[in-house]
Amino acid sequence: MPELKIADPGWYASELDSEECQCGRTKKSRMSFCYTCYKSLPPDIQRALYALIGSGYEEAYEEAVACLTGA
Ligand SMILES: [Zn+2]
Repeated sequence: MPELKIADPGWYASELDSEECQCGRTKKSRMSFCYTCYKSLPPDIQRALYALIGSGYEEAYEEAVACLTGA
């Protein structure tokens, strides 16, 4: 599991509500990523993103971003 870069759960909530994906494309609010990013994630990370904030979502999000950015 990657280390969380942002410890504030509110940041993840506002990211989820926003309409801009980490890649810069638009996404639907309540979705973590745009369709293109989401579909490029491995299935286990796609599933992990259904976790609730505070119950594993933060870790799943960081892992997904690391995967998408190749970090
Ligand atoms: Zn995207």
